[in-house]
Amino acid sequence: MRRFAPAVPLLAACLAAPLAPIAAQTRVPLELKPGRDLPIDAEATAKIRKYTTAPEFNSPLTDYLPASATVPAPSAVLGDVAGAPGILPYTAEVNRYFRMLEAASPRVRVISIGVSEEGRERIAVAVSSEANLQHQKENDARLAQLADPRLLKLDDARAESLITASVPVYYITGTIHSPETGAPTALMELAYRLAVDESPYIRAIREHVITLITPVVEVDGRDRMVDVYRWHLAHPKANLPRLVYWGHYVAHDNNRDAMGLTLSLSRQVLDTYLGWHAQVLHDLHESVPFLYDNTVGDGPYNAWVDPILTNEWQLFGWTNVAEMGKLGMPGVFTHGDFDTWSPGYLMFLAAMHNGVSRLYETFGNGGADTETREIPPGEASRTWYRQDPPYRSVSWSQRNNNNYEETGLLVSLAFVAENREQLLRNFWAKSKRSIAKPEREGPAAWVLPADDKRPGAQAELLRVLQLQHVEVSRADRAFTVSVPPEKKAGDTDDKDKDKDKDKDKDKNKDKDKDKDKDKALATRTFPAGSYVVRMDQPYSRAADALLDRQYWSPDDPQKHPYDDTGWSFSALFDAEAVRVPDRKVLAAPMGTVEAPFRLRGGVTGGGPVYVVAQRGDDAMFMLRYALGDATVEAATEPFRAGGRDYPRGTWLVRGIAKDVLDRASAEANVAVDAIAAPKVATRPVAKPRIALLHSWLNTQTEGWWRQRLDLLKIPYRYISTQGVAADPNLAARFDVILFPPVGVGDPLRIVSGLPMWGEPLPWKTSPETPNLGKIDATDDQRPGLGFAGLDHLRRFVEQGGLLVAVEDTAQLLIASGMAPGVRVANTKSLRVVGSVLDARFPDPKSPIVEGLGDRLSVYSAEGMSFEISRSAAGGWAEEESDRPTGRGSAQDTDAPTGRPAQPQQPPRAKVERWEARPLEVEELRHNPAVIPEALRPRTLVRFGDADELLVSGLLEHGAELARRAAVVEVPVGKGRLLLFAINPIWRGSTVGSHPLVWNAILGQATGGR
Ligand SMILES: [Zn+2]
Repeated sequence: MRRFAPAVPLLAACLAAPLAPIAAQTRVPLELKPGRDLPIDAEATAKIRKYTTAPEFNSPLTDYLPASATVPAPSAVLGDVAGAPGILPYTAEVNRYFRMLEAASPRVRVISIGVSEEGRERIAVAVSSEANLQHQKENDARLAQLADPRLLKLDDARAESLITASVPVYYITGTIHSPETGAPTALMELAYRLAVDESPYIRAIREHVITLITPVVEVDGRDRMVDVYRWHLAHPKANLPRLVYWGHYVAHDNNRDAMGLTLSLSRQVLDTYLGWHAQVLHDLHESVPFLYDNTVGDGPYNAWVDPILTNEWQLFGWTNVAEMGKLGMPGVFTHGDFDTWSPGYLMFLAAMHNGVSRLYETFGNGGADTETREIPPGEASRTWYRQDPPYRSVSWSQRNNNNYEETGLLVSLAFVAENREQLLRNFWAKSKRSIAKPEREGPAAWVLPADDKRPGAQAELLRVLQLQHVEVSRADRAFTVSVPPEKKAGDTDDKDKDKDKDKDKDKNKDKDKDKDKDKALATRTFPAGSYVVRMDQPYSRAADALLDRQYWSPDDPQKHPYDDTGWSFSALFDAEAVRVPDRKVLAAPMGTVEAPFRLRGGVTGGGPVYVVAQRGDDAMFMLRYALGDATVEAATEPFRAGGRDYPRGTWLVRGIAKDVLDRASAEANVAVDAIAAPKVATRPVAKPRIALLHSWLNTQTEGWWRQRLDLLKIPYRYISTQGVAADPNLAARFDVILFPPVGVGDPLRIVSGLPMWGEPLPWKTSPETPNLGKIDATDDQRPGLGFAGLDHLRRFVEQGGLLVAVEDTAQLLIASGMAPGVRVANTKSLRVVGSVLDARFPDPKSPIVEGLGDRLSVYSAEGMSFEISRSAAGGWAEEESDRPTGRGSAQDTDAPTGRPAQPQQPPRAKVERWEARPLEVEELRHNPAVIPEALRPRTLVRFGDADELLVSGLLEHGAELARRAAVVEVPVGKGRLLLFAINPIWRGSTVGSHPLVWNAILGQATGGR
């Protein structure tokens, strides 16, 4: 099946079709000129055609290269055309080319937007006409007023005059995902075309759009990927080393940071996007043939965006499919299996800030080799939304990929050029409706009370909102507003469902009325100093989506959520945020918090003992390590001193100079009271030596843990499973080993590693791989933890160490027999997909839950939980069974005939689902598997009750998970394991549960309990 590019193009009619033409607008001449009558770079054009594997994989927009006497083409840096086989430029080379463009053309401007975690520069490149760039400041001032309609007093007439005078900004981001390698060269060539091509089509884009380009988003990962590719060119027959590190911390998840904004790339792209008041953010990916414009994607759509945006998705997506189809390029589609629910993706920064989010998946080979690729039948089949599907088998080149990326972008830019007023009018409308949110849809505001029990976690949440460019206000005085009565999670579904079943509907209507009355009557007074996130601001939707709760119906037609279904930041940060529909809240006297949010730290008072009230947050953990050799003890009971109540776990600090403590606590934002010595029992709070353990299979999930330790400036050693396999005496170096999830399916793969056939896979610094081996290095990535490594971990714990294992690493320790009396609970129909669930503390006095109150919302990836037993073999709790067949009723006891009745067995003691049941008499007889009391596992955190279990996201058949163990402690020898079925440190979004890990670490020197 071969297709040929149509000789006669095309665009004018179709581009105008989806939108009504606007009278005031200058028409854009969109007849396509493939450049025959323009000066063409014949040599480059010949190479483009040579590197394209079939004519239909190119378009008349990109199958030639315009010539320029003054402006260098990408070959000036690449030595060949963009997308040439064998050529992948480093970040610095890409940046250098854009600076050459800038030097040679007044139509190009390069801006440094910051540096990465490893210090590599990230740039944004503006390409537009000379006039547009000359007047960019004035244009930006106009766009800024459209972005914040308060500046125009929401006046449509004034906005309209700005709209017709303005040039929109279209922001394109490349290579956030490092193995997806094509975008930088495609974007280099795109910028060159936009700068020099005089065909009417390109000129129209240049004159009516400012194209803003960040060619490499993940600059650190890009350089590592180029290293790996160059190593591959030098060792063509060997397998490539696995790209285990992309960015400094995370791999694929760098595209899940748009909520927490913990990575420099997310913050810099957002600041650039909002700083330029752009209308579109278009992120380039390369994992689906041949071009999946996932703008339309699939449901459910995010429930917080403006419907104007969801219609823009359709408009852009289907225009893209239609135009590229007409250009003769096969395999372009827009509807697919990507649901548009989570706002965690980089492109979604635009969706949450009144812009248009877009994402392409094109087809990449992960490098610049030309290869024969087989497309699975499911992706190559014709279906209603993919009438012209990709081929089943295809010879594919990086140039093909570049052709698709560039053509898709040019078609989109032309669409914006033609419909720029419509796009700006939508931008204005969305911004205005964000400000009108209190009266249009509600709520009026979110209020974070001044007296939150966890001020540190609350401060972290407020800081994230500020990074999102959300305005946070602080109430000058106490204020009272009506609020809906607090609804427990269990108040909703079951009762509503029962109600639906009820045939007497009128009665229910009355009940509803009563309910409404109750709602109207409830009021709440918030103290002075409470934080108000007003919804009458331009980025109200970003705040609303983060603070609200999510509900993904188990009956949703979408059965494969693409990512987490729940993310509620107020819940995961354990900071109370009250949704207030009452517009009176907006009249409360308040002022905007201008400075970046920080709690005030430092020492106050003049007593001999320094006291740090336990508040369960990152800052206290940070402070402990900053205090060095000072003596720190934790109160084992609440106490009162100096006229103040202090909770259990409060620190008493001695042996440190006041000025030193003052500096350290000010830097950590922790308040310290200097008071007279209180009378209270204490235990030591040490600062144990920490190791963070990673495998060579995958470092993605571990990266979020490493990032948090670095952010808090915690000293730790970063060790690998191979290092553990080689070190029989880990206890000599470490007190605590953190073993976060690996995420490779079968946990035993952590032990086995990769198969040892073939050649070694080195990950180390060498002349040909200067960017590898910096975070950690190995001569060969293949060997895993091995049985020796497992044994060394066991010995480490037996000698007194604390080993923290999470999800699959916990499974591994259980499977290897290291956690007698613990198993992963079996479930039948339970469904959890990245949900936020309720958790409780069976022993509220346990040091691990200090500062956390009496409950917590936790992140569960797939609903994992544990069961515990008092036996190393069996002894699991059994659900109550029915009585056997016999005489009497179901409640009666059977009595065999022909003999006197036997004494009745005493009823079994009630055992909670998170507990181990007492063993039966027979189980205790001569049984070496019975676990001595001191070594029994015990549950520190359990899941909530069934009717309160779901906080946010998807939960089906939650009764199977309710009340089961979520965190279990297992004494082993002199040490202990701490097994997590939840992930307490995830994507910068689970700040509320971090102290479960920090408290465990700080409690280590006491030997646990
Ligand atoms: Zn990707």
